[in-house]
Amino acid sequence: MGKKILVGAGCFILSFFLHFFVFFSRQVSADEFYYPPDEDGELVIVIDPGHGGGNLGADYNGFLEKEMNMTVAKAMKEELEKYDGITVYLTHDSADTDMPIQDRADFADSVHADFLFCLHFNMSPGNILFGSEVWISAFGEENRQGYRFGRVQMDTMKDMGLYLRGVKTRLNDRGSDYYGILRFCEEYDIPAALIEHCHIDHENDVGFCDSEEDLIRFGVADATSVAKFFGLRSEILDVDYSGYPLEDTEAGALYMQADTSDPDICMIETSYTDLERGVIGIALTAYDYDSPMLYYAYSIDGGTTYTPYLAWPDSDVMGTGTPDSFVFEIEIPEGVSPMIKVKAVNQYDRFTESNLLDGLPVFVRPAEELLPPDREEETDTVSSGNVPMPSEGFHAPSQPQREETKRSFFGFLMICFFVVCILFTALFITNIIMSCRKRQKRKERKRK
Ligand SMILES: [Zn+2]
Repeated sequence: MGKKILVGAGCFILSFFLHFFVFFSRQVSADEFYYPPDEDGELVIVIDPGHGGGNLGADYNGFLEKEMNMTVAKAMKEELEKYDGITVYLTHDSADTDMPIQDRADFADSVHADFLFCLHFNMSPGNILFGSEVWISAFGEENRQGYRFGRVQMDTMKDMGLYLRGVKTRLNDRGSDYYGILRFCEEYDIPAALIEHCHIDHENDVGFCDSEEDLIRFGVADATSVAKFFGLRSEILDVDYSGYPLEDTEAGALYMQADTSDPDICMIETSYTDLERGVIGIALTAYDYDSPMLYYAYSIDGGTTYTPYLAWPDSDVMGTGTPDSFVFEIEIPEGVSPMIKVKAVNQYDRFTESNLLDGLPVFVRPAEELLPPDREEETDTVSSGNVPMPSEGFHAPSQPQREETKRSFFGFLMICFFVVCILFTALFITNIIMSCRKRQKRKERKRK
């Protein structure tokens, strides 16, 4: 009996120390990240401009993705070559080249690439999405390195002013990586990242990519992310990123598995109603156990029509700080009894509709407060931000109101004019009558 207790205690102590050792050795390896160059001691980067030839990529309103990707790729290569100890290749250097995805991965393997960066621009059905994202392999070391690079790239895109959609993985029905370039690179053990810089079909992003200078700026930004990731140095640029801190996958892997379900909770309730200002405050609570919330949209007609997607306030797509609830204000048009519904959208663009808020009062404002002069300015400045704000949805109908006031003023003038006319006519008639009478009296006097 005593022996058994002794052996048990021994095993317990041993396993405790073993766990302790494993835990700390993992911590150390996470902190001392250093990307190992390949056998010849040289860092080889392959840049793959997405699409090409007959494969145009996104094609919208004068934007042609294959050409945009090529411009960014060339600028990225030029910038990267300013750093020491790096060899950079493009998979192809003309937007007219039709290159199968397998060939691109084969090329990366043939030059012993340490990393492949695949460059893209995005657009969405219905033109509703905006922001920047990075897709990576869901597997092994490629996932780990991809995520570490993705974090750096997201910081770079945030500094440029873009909305962040995060670092994500996506699987096909066979359970392997959905994007061919990530799948083929993973088979060759080459870490890869597919960068979707921004959405060419959304007003929020267009300003970031509608000139050659913008595209070159993206190329330089991508190169800077790579330089930080690999801790590179450049005498020409006078920068030294050696020892640049990289966060490990374990810290942020929480949301990296593709989320294939809708947000779990989406509820709304009235926070306040202000009939005089014609606004209603809505408290929204939405949550997804698998990924952070990214956008919301609201409807005042019971869910028939929605506003464009709006940025989730204080979205923290690379961490866990995205708030679950917030209050936003909706301007309700005059004479409308709103039926409010909200859509909450997660990082993987899946959404859940809220409960319906109806039975709300008809929004009628007191007549003299229809158009206070300073109110109009207020609504105009709110919507001038970079990211769509709630007030953009429904503006109070200030234009018709102004016409109404114009019309009533015109009516008042007409009445005045009419009164003056009557007065003049009355004066004129009495004048005629008076002169007639005078003439008659004179005639009578003459007869007498
Ligand atoms: Zn593309």
